[in-house]
Amino acid sequence: MKLKLYNTLGRKKEIFEPLHAPNVGMYVCGPTVYGDGHLGHARPAITFDILFRFLTHLGYKVRYVRNITDVGHLENDADSGEDKIAKKARVDQVEPMEVVQHYLNRYHKAMEELNVLPPSIEPHASGHIIEQIEFTEKIIQAGFAYESEGSVYFDVEKYNNSHHYGILSGRNIDEMLETTRELDGQSEKRRSVDFALWKKASPEHIMRWNSPWSEGFPGWHLECSAMGTKYLGEEFDIHGGGMDLMFPHHECEIAQSTAALGKKTVQYWMHNNMITINGQKMGKSLGNFITLEEFFTGNHPLLTQAFSPMTVRFFILQAHYRSTVDFSSEALQASDKGLSRLMEGYARLQKLKASDTSSIETSGLRAKCEEAMCDDLNTPIVIAHLFDAMKAINLAYDGKANISEIDLNELKSVYQLFIVDLLGLKTENQASGTNEAYKKAIDLLLNMRMEAKQNKDWVTSDKIRNELTAFGFEIKDSKDGFEWKI
Ligand code: ZN
Repeated sequence: MKLKLYNTLGRKKEIFEPLHAPNVGMYVCGPTVYGDGHLGHARPAITFDILFRFLTHLGYKVRYVRNITDVGHLENDADSGEDKIAKKARVDQVEPMEVVQHYLNRYHKAMEELNVLPPSIEPHASGHIIEQIEFTEKIIQAGFAYESEGSVYFDVEKYNNSHHYGILSGRNIDEMLETTRELDGQSEKRRSVDFALWKKASPEHIMRWNSPWSEGFPGWHLECSAMGTKYLGEEFDIHGGGMDLMFPHHECEIAQSTAALGKKTVQYWMHNNMITINGQKMGKSLGNFITLEEFFTGNHPLLTQAFSPMTVRFFILQAHYRSTVDFSSEALQASDKGLSRLMEGYARLQKLKASDTSSIETSGLRAKCEEAMCDDLNTPIVIAHLFDAMKAINLAYDGKANISEIDLNELKSVYQLFIVDLLGLKTENQASGTNEAYKKAIDLLLNMRMEAKQNKDWVTSDKIRNELTAFGFEIKDSKDGFEWKI
């Protein structure tokens, strides 16, 4: 089975062939760390976590680079306005790097809770100023950038004469040249479509470095060209990010790298679709901006309850990464139930006892799940197959079907591979040692109750059952013992 990935560059699914198998280079635009982590951050992190896990499962040695944008991202995403991190530092009266560290710590914590594996390298833009200056020099030498008043701009029109600016996003540059007008204070640019590689810092700008042109800072798009090629080589396999980054960020990155290096740097461009909340785009001004921490605590007016990190992860994986996802409390509640059912099936599977023969069909599940993953990471189909197989698990669990040892082991292995290793789902009470101890304590009480029943000590057995039920536990007797949940 061959892995097919949808390449945004070319707009079709293509068989994935790495440049230097078994090595795979993968670069994903990480967070801009000046604000609270929200759902928009969770989706690319989870999408490319799935790809990272699956490529590793296929036997590739993946070098996964996910950058940290901590400089040069100006307000309104253009070449003007205040640096977002510098602004926060000024308002809070702290060092810009304190702002970065504060949000980065919170981002890492949220990623860990979402069971997103850490990347191989997590480079900071602010730690690669020299590389970005060198990259700018290469673009100037190639004739595709010009200096103006201490700043350096990429000459989009000149680049487009020999290359194709708009190749990724499909934007038409002629239209852009006609419709964009010069903005105030940007007259040092030849064209308003030109973008900054280096910006001269204004006197109040606090994040600044020396360069051949001025004391200033790099443009936002430059870091990914410089750091991607530094760690993955001038040609590498995969570049990912959210769809909102396609233009201008990734379009500019392609132009910069092609101009500086004279070749196509990225083979496969991949973009995850966006998240909406109750059908609306997420935004601070719309009042529907929900941080990950608020999801996990339920502390937001739009949320009817707290949702665990695994529910959020499962919810995102129930949609294909190229589809939009609409968050609502109702949809999350449905995901919460679905995830509980799946994990309950997984737990039941561990308790099944093998028979001499099988009366249920379980073969083919592995191949079907792998086929779905190979089809551009179709996680909703994988989840549907896993739910299908649960019917057989439940029949066997209720004693209405038999399963042989070979079939049972295969089923256990497929569930382990897809649920735990590839989709990265885990039962919440596996999450920490405290929860594990608590689970064991309840199991101990219920085992004592079983013993009491066997000894016909109904007083003790009823007492344990009734009191646990009063605490909110739901206890079910089954063929092989018991099950409980809260
Ligand atoms: Zn980027």
